[in-house]
Amino acid sequence: MSRSKSTPSDSHSGAGIGNATGHALSAAELIAIEQRIGAHNYKPLDVVITRGEGCWVWDVEGTRYLDGLAAYGAVNQGHQHPRIVAAMTAQLGRMSLTSRAFRNDQLAPFYQELSDFSGYTRVLPMNTGAEAVETALKAARKWGYTVKGVPDGEAEILVFDGNFAGRTISIISFSDDEQYRFGFGPFTPGFRILPYGNLAALERAITPNTVAVLLEPVQGEGGIIIPPADFLPGVRALCDQHRVLMIADEIQSGLGRTGKRFACDHAGVRPDAMTLGKALSGGMYPVSAFLADDEVMDVFGPGDHGSTFGGNPLGAAVATEAIRVLQDEGMIDNAAAMGARFAEALDRFDFGSIREVRQTGLWIGIELWEQAGGARRYTEDLRARGVLCKETHEHVIRIAPPLVIDESQVDLTVDTLRATFESLG
Ligand SMILES: *Cc1c(COP(=O)(O)O)cnc(C)c1O
Repeated sequence: MSRSKSTPSDSHSGAGIGNATGHALSAAELIAIEQRIGAHNYKPLDVVITRGEGCWVWDVEGTRYLDGLAAYGAVNQGHQHPRIVAAMTAQLGRMSLTSRAFRNDQLAPFYQELSDFSGYTRVLPMNTGAEAVETALKAARKWGYTVKGVPDGEAEILVFDGNFAGRTISIISFSDDEQYRFGFGPFTPGFRILPYGNLAALERAITPNTVAVLLEPVQGEGGIIIPPADFLPGVRALCDQHRVLMIADEIQSGLGRTGKRFACDHAGVRPDAMTLGKALSGGMYPVSAFLADDEVMDVFGPGDHGSTFGGNPLGAAVATEAIRVLQDEGMIDNAAAMGARFAEALDRFDFGSIREVRQTGLWIGIELWEQAGGARRYTEDLRARGVLCKETHEHVIRIAPPLVIDESQVDLTVDTLRATFESLG
């Protein structure tokens, strides 16, 4: 077994795990162990990454790739951002976990930073995106019963087809993706799925028991689906008219991904509440949050809701710096500019397999015709050419690089895409 080729920082590669002779395990060996021991609940590209920096990642063989996925948008700030690494390292040297039984000195600055950034008066910290969404569902229901006056047990939350909000039982209860649901029932009641982007259907579906409309302002997992321009303002107006909470799941669309602070900003719409996650972590340590103003957040009293790790000092320190870096380094404006550069280049693509290209900021969905044989072939080919990205559903190539991508890296990605399309048709 030969040792993996040297990398720009060989001492970091294959760290820790070795075979019987003390050599780092090869990619094939690592993959075999993963397959044998791990649950098969993902189907990753067979690239075993060991190091990252900015938009680049390196595999255990020393091959460099441009990261065109950014961990589904959790690494907007780029891999190993030095300021976030420093904040995390410093905090790790002092205190990592207190639990919320006690207070910690990192939570207040995090609250202040996130409230100032988002414009919401109140913050409830959790860890994963799904937990933030669960928090939103609980807040909406309790607001419905205690503030709006909906009869107990009757609250209804309206959602849209093509949604993705995580993998808990309640969240998959309102998914319309059969694979996400198959074998996992019985499901949580109280949700209604409506056609995404359809205001008339929404207006018809609202009843006195409707407490919230939960939506993604752009559907990421759904395939970078951008709703009609009048949709978000229309949802806002209907929610105002019927006293229904408009809750935006900005876990993937927020924090600069679309070239603005939040995707809702493009429509000039302010939801009543919001979920954030993914890039709130700076790509380092899971942090999510439910944001709202006083009337909604005050439905939670001591003991109503919580999480052992939610609001822990390590996560709070990391997230505070992650938000600052995003602003201080102009990453949101860069996402808008580089996204436009991408769009302009992709506009000139003329390949028969492409059905539609959808783009907002650094979020690009290239939808292929069914005859193209699925997006996976394309993501495999892109990987072989040095660009990592992931298909979403069957037929969409999703490109979502870190927001620190520069012009030459955009051009490289475009050139690589062109080569792939020229090769596969
Ligand atoms: C990823 C995602 C979630 C779930 O986040 P996890 O951290 O994976 O639980 C929820 N909503 C949206 C829009 C997402 O993209």
